[in-house]
Amino acid sequence: MRFFIQNFGCRATQADGAALEGLLAKQGFAPAEAARAADLVILNTCTVTSSADDDVRKSIHRVHRENPGARILVTGCYAQRSPAELSQIPGVTWVVGNSHKTQIPDLLPGLLPAADYHGQVPACEIIVGDIREARDFLSSPVDDAFGDRTRPNLKIQEGCNNPCTFCIIPSVRGRSRSMSTQQVLAEIRSLAGTYREIVLTGINLGRWGREAGFEPERRLRLDGLLRLILEQTSVERLRISSVEPMDLSDDLLDLMAASPRIAAHVHAPLQSGSDSVLRRMKRRYRTRHYEDRILRAHRLLPHAAFGADVMTGFPGESDDDFRQTFEFIERLPLTYLHVFTYSARPGTPAFSDSGQVPHPLRKQRTRLLRELAEKKNLAFRRAQIGRTLRAVTLDNGKALPENYLAVDLAAHRPANRLVELKIGGLTAGGLAEESPFNVLPS
Ligand code: SF4
Repeated sequence: MRFFIQNFGCRATQADGAALEGLLAKQGFAPAEAARAADLVILNTCTVTSSADDDVRKSIHRVHRENPGARILVTGCYAQRSPAELSQIPGVTWVVGNSHKTQIPDLLPGLLPAADYHGQVPACEIIVGDIREARDFLSSPVDDAFGDRTRPNLKIQEGCNNPCTFCIIPSVRGRSRSMSTQQVLAEIRSLAGTYREIVLTGINLGRWGREAGFEPERRLRLDGLLRLILEQTSVERLRISSVEPMDLSDDLLDLMAASPRIAAHVHAPLQSGSDSVLRRMKRRYRTRHYEDRILRAHRLLPHAAFGADVMTGFPGESDDDFRQTFEFIERLPLTYLHVFTYSARPGTPAFSDSGQVPHPLRKQRTRLLRELAEKKNLAFRRAQIGRTLRAVTLDNGKALPENYLAVDLAAHRPANRLVELKIGGLTAGGLAEESPFNVLPS
């Protein structure tokens, strides 16, 4: 029995898929190189937008068309959100929600004989439970967002308890839960033997260790965990992927400022620079809190990268709300933005809001914020010229310093080394190392 897993969506889903692959291999299933060559195809899905859903449905049709004999198991966030919809698609044999994802390796031996077709197409079996009851989760280190193999992402936290009205995550990934301290340390020790930089990720990373009853003897929060990692492992550089603004505690920021082994990189989702929109999104902070955290972080880490997720076109976002967002971002020392256009998700409170913003206006606001982000990023990149940065060499001929700007190397260097680079100029979206043959400062 050969299996193939196709992952969709975010790093968290990739981490689940990598863990599932490892578990299936342990059970004696052999990985296939492509869906065409597999007896079992697992689609590990995402449902963050309606186009993510479209991608999944198209892929199911394609797999079934190209390999009609394969059994198809659909799991992940879309499977959790809408199992009945997926079960109607021809070729789908099982839909397994995130609630039962960790059990797929145990379920399969029982499921497979039942799917012996004998010329009959079996009815699709749906295995989906209440995700709020889930207490465990899958996780394996995965490559970073650019597919680079030198900076593994380790997911140490799953789920979210926040009530943000646009977000489908709590209903498809469940409540916040954490990888144990011992497991985090063991994973980091093992990765630190091979890699220079490790990226800690989670759905709501700042909530690591905060669920009731979690390791009462330790009572660690994220900053305490980071201290332990620094003391008890040899990892040369840790990067913290994204932390909600209210979890950017003084302790965490002070630790980041004091430790050269934690990358000077702060990513804090903003979503909107209008308090009235934040209130309706049920975000748990207001702009003054966000500003306070970012300005404090900037005082402590003046050369750091500061990133934010921002959403345009949330229902009811007026021209004035958008203007406030634009001006708020303009005056903060943010160095990059991830701008998302609001997409109504069935099952979220904002879905049925009557104030849906027309799509062309959403797109126009997204474009304006992306232009602003480019301007701010250019100013940040220009400020790096002449500086010497410590960077990890990647497997694509570039290097990544603490401040998250990709540097084109002046000469070949092996991947996965920590090096010092003098910045000589700019490239289209990043920096160039100084070299007698390289670009002039611009
Ligand atoms: S904090 Fe809000 S946006 Fe982020 S995962 Fe939780 S509910 Fe979703």
